[in-house]
Amino acid sequence: MSQKENIPDQNLDPKDWEAMRTLGHQMVDDLIDYWAGIREQKIWRPIPDEVKQVFDQPIPEHGQSPEEVYREFKEYIFPYNKGNVHPRFFAWIQGTGTPMGTFGDLLASGMNPNTAIGEHSAMYVDRQVVNWCKQLMNFPSEASGILVSGGSMANITALTVARNSFGEEKIRQKGLKAASGQLLIYCSVETHSCIQKAAEIIGLGTDAVRKIGVNERFELDVDQLKTQLEADLQAGFLPFCLVGTAGTVNTGAIDPMEELLEISRAYGLWFHVDGAYGALGKLDSNYAGALRAIEEADSLAFDLHKWLYVPYEVGCTLIRDAKKHRDSFAITPNYLLQEKRGLSGGLDSINNYGFELSRGFKALKVWMSIKEHGREKYAAMITQNNRHAAYLAALVEQNPYLELTAPLSMSITCFRMIQPGWEEEALQALNKEILLRLQEEGIASPSSTILNGKYTLRVANVNQRTQREDMELLVREVLRLGKSIIAEG
Ligand SMILES: *Cc1c(COP(=O)(O)O)cnc(C)c1O
Repeated sequence: MSQKENIPDQNLDPKDWEAMRTLGHQMVDDLIDYWAGIREQKIWRPIPDEVKQVFDQPIPEHGQSPEEVYREFKEYIFPYNKGNVHPRFFAWIQGTGTPMGTFGDLLASGMNPNTAIGEHSAMYVDRQVVNWCKQLMNFPSEASGILVSGGSMANITALTVARNSFGEEKIRQKGLKAASGQLLIYCSVETHSCIQKAAEIIGLGTDAVRKIGVNERFELDVDQLKTQLEADLQAGFLPFCLVGTAGTVNTGAIDPMEELLEISRAYGLWFHVDGAYGALGKLDSNYAGALRAIEEADSLAFDLHKWLYVPYEVGCTLIRDAKKHRDSFAITPNYLLQEKRGLSGGLDSINNYGFELSRGFKALKVWMSIKEHGREKYAAMITQNNRHAAYLAALVEQNPYLELTAPLSMSITCFRMIQPGWEEEALQALNKEILLRLQEEGIASPSSTILNGKYTLRVANVNQRTQREDMELLVREVLRLGKSIIAEG
């Protein structure tokens, strides 16, 4: 026997299962304490330089005990969280997560099924969650869908199907050179940047994205769209896809969906809806009408980690024509053959509906969350977010030192502090400083944007922990900080 063969076999499981059990329980306890006490905590704190240095250390050659690793997590990582679990987090558009969603993720990770192919429970849970997504969105049961990492992936997945389904050109086989001209995609100037990135990646290029102007409510201007379409057709271009946004990232504006649907039919365009943020706004009866037409879209992208409050990451693409969807992605190499029986039997492989092959069991956190709360509760929560945004807007309008900078739409409120006679530059400096102090003092986390040249505070509420009083506190603190900044000169 050679020396080598005498080395005892090893594995990565704990040496002491009971110690790991204790540590695991501690982790759960710490999370429960964290969530239960989050309202009393500062929303954000700066990361000290000594802590940042920890993340510059080179790869460890040797391991340490699980207890020691967890101690480092608690010292260096846990306290410096982003804050979107906190009731006053309103930056960008970021969901809160829920305890049950988190435990769903833990269980999914513990089972660790690669949820792409094969006969096992995760495949059925995934299929059921996609079916529930269709039901939430009033899509037909024959439609297809796939869970992906988020809105960006959901959008590029849909746009790939739109591109491959164009005409008789067999673009999937032959590439874009098969088309008799330049394909064009239409959206508004307020459309999320992932649409442009997707157009670049699927070979259309930035110039193929026609960004149409918006009205004073930041909604796509239909007259400009028609004029652009006519001009492009005259010039020999090939318009193929129209993207409507159901809730823009800046202001929550909803493009005129019924009119976009009509135009897409009249011009033979694929109608895609980016509903990453706002599609679930359908569950609020106040917005159901404005969002109705998304049920008739050819494809729809929406996030579950924003307005379903499920922990990161999960989004969904729905495609009305399941055959076009499958025809865009299905390939069956020899190592992925399906059988009628056994482990390789079961449902159609999920990678026939998207680019990714290996996939986690992200469906479980959604499945457990939806079972825990039911559709009605989500409708009430989304409606509550919208109501709180309207309440904030009302508080702003009542105060002579505050102004709304965009019309209220769904759960995004844009406003700023004003002073009589001040120029834009001074107002920008004032509001920027208010924003930074709100964050640095750990009070609340709105973000900022610029609307029609006005620097503005932006409060996007997809937060399941926010209460009415948080909006009152926010307004109070903006005014307090603003006054003290002015007093400092
Ligand atoms: C958030 C968002 C996206 C991007 O979604 P991710 O989940 O962040 O990838 C796209 N479009 C809109 C309108 C969004 O709000």
